[in-house]
Parts: sequence; C-alpha cells; structure tokens
Amino acid sequence: MPMYTVRCHACGKYDTIFRRIAERDANLPQCHGAMHRIIEAPTVQADLPGYQSPIDGHWVEGRRQRTEDLRRNHCRPWEGMAAEKQEAHRRAAEADKAYGAAVESAIVDTYRNMSPAKQRALEGLAS
Ligand SMILES: [Zn+2]
Repeated sequence: MPMYTVRCHACGKYDTIFRRIAERDANLPQCHGAMHRIIEAPTVQADLPGYQSPIDGHWVEGRRQRTEDLRRNHCRPWEGMAAEKQEAHRRAAEADKAYGAAVESAIVDTYRNMSPAKQRALEGLAS
C-alpha cells in the first residue's frame, strides 16, 4: 500500500499514512482540522521497524513478516469501517450459502437412505 505524507496547515505537523491510491484523500488524519496530503516524489518505502504482534505475541520484523503474521492469524490489515462492513457482509453471505448447501445435501442423503416405502410415504405428504 502506498505511503503518503500529510501536513497540518495550522501548525505544520507532519504525519505518514498508508492508503490505497483511490482512497489516499479519504478520512485524512485530524490535527487543527483535517490534514492535507503533500504532493511529493514517490519514495522507496522503508521497511517496518520490528514490533511484537498484538495478535499472538510473536516478534515481527519488517513488512514480509507482518504479512505472514496477518496470514498466520487469519487477519487482514484494517482498511476502514466501510471496507470492514463490506467484508463482514461478504463473509456472512458466504457462510449462509455454505450452510444452505450443507442442509440441502443432508436432506438428499436422508431421503436416499430411506426405505422405498418411507420415500413413497414422504412423497404422499408432499402432494
Ligand atoms: Zn495542527
């Protein structure tokens, strides 16, 4: 994800943000009002300093290990509330679909394992 520098026009404070290009100007940090993104030449992003994973306590050194830490713990980088809600809806729809397929499969299996007499009795109830 690209890195951008933002600055407060009132006090001159700088900050660094990581955003997708399409969202680089959305919800900029606040200082004395919303900070403004500074147009600057792209720079090679320095690697992340080491830190202890808040997820499982492992030491994480650099971006590659961070990606691995997130993957190992079935996590994703925070992308904002709108993206999180969208992901939650997507996962719920996926779970509903899987549940529906499992129920349908169980019904079919149960029917196939019934004696022909029971199958005929069941069909009688349906008609
Ligand atoms: Zn400020």
